[in-house]
This record gives sequence, structure tokens and C-alpha cells, in this order.
Amino acid sequence: MRKPKVVVLGAGYGGIMTVVNLQKKLGVNEADITLVNNNDYHYQTTWLHENAAGTLHHDRSRIAIKDIIDRSKVDFVQDTVEQVVPEEKKVILKNGEVTYDYLVMALGFESETFGIKGLKEHAFSIANINAARQIKEHIEYQFATYSNMKEKKDELLTIIVGGAGFTGIEFVGELANRVPELCQEFDIAREKVKVICVEAAPMILPGFDPELVEYARNYLERKGIEFRIGTAIKECTTEGIIVGADDNVEEIKAGTVVWAAGVRGSAVVEGSGFEAMRGRVKVEPDLRAPGHDNVFIVGDSALIINEEINRPYPPTAQIAMQQGETCAHNLTVLIREQGNMETFTPDIKGTVCSLGHDDAIGTVFGRKLVGWQAAFMKKMIDNRALFLIGGPLLVIKKGKWNFL
Ligand code: FAD
Ligand code: NAD
Repeated sequence: MRKPKVVVLGAGYGGIMTVVNLQKKLGVNEADITLVNNNDYHYQTTWLHENAAGTLHHDRSRIAIKDIIDRSKVDFVQDTVEQVVPEEKKVILKNGEVTYDYLVMALGFESETFGIKGLKEHAFSIANINAARQIKEHIEYQFATYSNMKEKKDELLTIIVGGAGFTGIEFVGELANRVPELCQEFDIAREKVKVICVEAAPMILPGFDPELVEYARNYLERKGIEFRIGTAIKECTTEGIIVGADDNVEEIKAGTVVWAAGVRGSAVVEGSGFEAMRGRVKVEPDLRAPGHDNVFIVGDSALIINEEINRPYPPTAQIAMQQGETCAHNLTVLIREQGNMETFTPDIKGTVCSLGHDDAIGTVFGRKLVGWQAAFMKKMIDNRALFLIGGPLLVIKKGKWNFL
């Protein structure tokens, strides 16, 4: 009998957790499993702000896919997904195509620029590993250029971070530690460097616990981070950014602008005809795309509603990984034609926001944490993710052990 073909697109948290769980559940003779990803490695998206600031080498965040998958059960195809054609059960890749009986779309997120002028052209975003590496290189280049200038342009040393959500705050937290190192490396006085985080809402980390937010703001300000809150970025230019509205417009010159003010789902999802809101498909409770019995969508391209507040859950790795487990279970039920599919319900254990590697804020199992305890917890969360993906050996190889 022909084995059903399962194709998983994307080896981020959602995709890799689907594959890791499928290979545990299914025998070699039960299904042909293919994983498609544009790189031959998985990367820890939740560590990208560290790679972008230059506080963590990118090789620490990359994990070879061959080291995670069971190659007797899973074929790996390194290629870029261009489009899914659900009517023909096929996926068009840059260099070929694959057909499927069951498909899992786990292509992650893209930066959301809300149509703001100049952002796509002139701002960086922490959207994937090579984008993060480019930010690191760019900042270093600006510092090197400044040190070699005869007539110094101080604005080269200004770094603007758009958005004080979790990504923006975690990134400026890393910069707070990295800037003094850069100053030493390039013989530059610390007071010449400005890191300005611009946030449209009236507070940083809008919606998060106010006491923890205050701790974070005070801590980061003490380390030299400037905040411009209640200030929306209106435009990005070759010189910096424009903020404000109508008659109250201001230009802030900067050598580096990093846009960290929102995400949307993968463009492939919309481009394949799935009904989506900002690239995210409101999936059925079993994680299938509405009207598509053989297509699952997990991770940042899936939209699920928190019924308690009637608003979408924020897209997180925590949810993407849990969806991967549920998706693997539901696929196993479909393939074996026995058992019951599960309804996906996120099990939110907490949220921890790092402020550099040595401090953090968070709520875990309802308890508030700050300082070294929160930073320790963040590393435990990172190590747990590694454990779920690749077991104890991966934790030993790539884990975070710098607890002091
Ligand atoms: P991803 O993990 O982004 O993976 C998508 C994969 O698909 C990638 O491997 C990519 O290379 C591949 N891909 C994309 N397009 C194509 C294509 N066309 N063809 C082939 N392959 C493709 N969440 C938390 O819960 N906790 C945190 O602490 C946290 N920190 C974060 C820090 C930063 C800096 C950022 C940016 C996000 C953070 N998040 C965090 C959010 C979290 O990273 C995402 O929600 C999570 O990565 C989503 O998982 P995913 O599988 O949908 O996508
Ligand atoms: P976000 O949407 O959570 O935050 C974006 C911020 O940018 C908001 O505060 C918004 O008010 C602001 N903003 C929007 N437009 C603006 C403008 N024109 N000018 C200035 N500010 C503007 O996005 P994010 O921080 O990239 O996070 C994306 C997802 O990843 C979220 O779901 C988040 O929870 C998750 N994440 C989690 C962690 C963690 O758990 N530690 C870390 C990073 C990201």
C-alpha cells in the first residue's frame, strides 16, 4: 500500500517540533515525511536579538537539521518555498516541486512595516538569522567608519530601535551590554553613542505588568538607553527617522535604524490563496486551515483566539512549539485512521523578557521575577527549548550556562 506523504514547510519552532514528534510517533512504514527549509539548519529565532547586537555568535543559534532529524524516517529538502497549490496538493519550490497528502505550513513571520515610508529600503529588521548578522556587521561598520573619520559625524553612532515591544526591549538590553565593548574596540567615548528606543504607545512593553515594566525602564535607562514613548515613527530616510504628526514633526538622525515594531505571517500563505489577516490564517481548533482537511498551519502564520479576552494570542515560540506537538498528534490520528484529534489550547507558562544576558523581567506560573532570578529563568527556558528539539546532547552542545 502506498504510504501517505507528509510535507512540512519550515524548520523553525513549529516545523521542527512537528517533525521531531512525528518521527517519534510514526514507524518507517507508516508515512513518507519530507521537511523543506531554506537553510540546512534550524535557528533559534528567540536568540536573534543577541546575534543582531553581537553578544552571541550566530553559530550558537544555528543547529544542523541533519543532527535533529531521524534520516531513516525524514527526507530533508533544502529549498525555498514559493507557493502552495492546494487544489493540486503540490508545493512549488525555487528549484522544483513536491507533492503531498498532508501538508504542514510553518514558515514563520516577516517584519510588518504597516506601509510606513522608507522602512523597507532604509531600516533593518531582526527577521531571520542573516538579517540579524547584517545588523551586527552594520553597527560595527558604523563604529569603524566613525573612528577613521577626520570630521566626525556623531549621528553614525546613533542606533534607533523602532518599537518597545518584547523584541525591541530585548534588543536594546543586549545593546546596553555591547555598546561599551564596541566603544573599547573602536576607541570611542561611550557618551558619543546613543541608543534610542522609539515607541508609539504611552509605555514600553504595552500591556505587560506595570511594575515589571518600570523595573525594565529604570534598569535600561541606567545603562544609557534613551526612550521616546508616545512617539510614532512616520518615515525612515537615508539619514534617520521622522517622528511625530502634522505640525509637530521631528527628524532624528542615525547611522542605524532597526525596525522591531511588529510582525506578520509568511507572505507564502497569502500568496497561496489562504484567507489570512496580515499573513495569519485563523486556523480550526485542530490547527487545520479552514476548508482544507489536509493542510495544517502552525507557528506565527497561524492565528488563534484567546476566548477569554476575544483577542488573538501574540505569536510566540512557546505557542509554536506546543502547536508542533498537537499537529504531530493530529497527523498521526489521520494517518492511522484511529484515535481522536486534539483541540489546540495554548498552555501559557509565563513570559520572560531579557534585559541583556544578566538581567530580565517576567512572570512565570503567575509569579513575578526580576534581576538574576528572571535572567536564570530565561536561560532555563532557552535550554528547555533545545531539549525539546534535540534532547540532552543538544542542551550540552548549545545550551546557555553563563548564569553569573
Ligand atoms: P520561525 O521559528 O521563525 O521559523 C520559520 C522557519 O521557516 C525558518 O527556519 C525559516 O528559515 C523558514 N522559512 C521561512 N520562509 C521560508 C521559505 N519561503 N522557504 C523555506 N523556508 C522558509 N517567543 C517566545 O515565546 N519567547 C521568546 O523569548 C521570544 N523571543 C523572541 C526574540 C526575537 C528577537 C524574535 C524576533 C522573536 C521572539 N519570539 C519569542 C517569537 C518567536 O521567535 C516566534 O513566535 C517563533 O519563532 C515562531 O515560530 P515559527 O516556527 O512560526 O517560525
Ligand atoms: P509587538 O507587536 O509585540 O510590539 C511592537 C511594538 O511596536 C508595540 O509596542 C507598538 O506599539 C510599537 N509600534 C508600532 N508601530 C510603531 C511606530 N510606527 N512607531 C513606534 N512604535 C511603534 O512586536 P515584537 O516586539 O516584534 O514581538 C513580536 C512577537 O514576538 C510578539 O508576539 C511577542 O510577544 C513575541 N516575542 C516574545 C518575546 C519574549 O517572550 N521574551 C521576545 C520577543 C518577541
